[in-house]
Amino acid sequence: MAYDQNNIFAKILRGEIPCKKVYEDDHVLAFEDIAPKRPVHVLVIPKGPYEDATTFAAEASDVEQAALWKAVGLIVKQTGVDKTGYRIISNTGEHGHQEVPHLHLHILGGSSCGPMVK
Ligand code: ADP
Repeated sequence: MAYDQNNIFAKILRGEIPCKKVYEDDHVLAFEDIAPKRPVHVLVIPKGPYEDATTFAAEASDVEQAALWKAVGLIVKQTGVDKTGYRIISNTGEHGHQEVPHLHLHILGGSSCGPMVK
């Protein structure tokens, strides 16, 4: 499926709608989720036009892929959840209940509330 340039995260990347930025580098942007499900709920996205984890794994460069994980490592330290634990979730496609068609990793932490299904 073609990447939808009008998805909400593409608009955030273009600066058309605001976000509470947590981290940014050449390849990655991270910002607070607008409806946090944990005290720490950060979304980490590649700047490139990748619809989901499958597309990113297949098409993103090694540099882009490495940058995403390096950013995760920095963000978990910055938010302090590296000390207490956290979840990384990437909902993918219809069965994964993905709402926004731009790859995003949810980093969830800051409290322990048992398994999070949806
Ligand atoms: P779901 O909504 O089912 O978790 P996704 O995995 O696609 O589906 O997650 C989209 C996430 O984007 C949601 O957690 C939602 O709260 C968040 N979100 C939507 N719009 C914005 C926005 N403008 N700024 C920050 N986060 C947003």
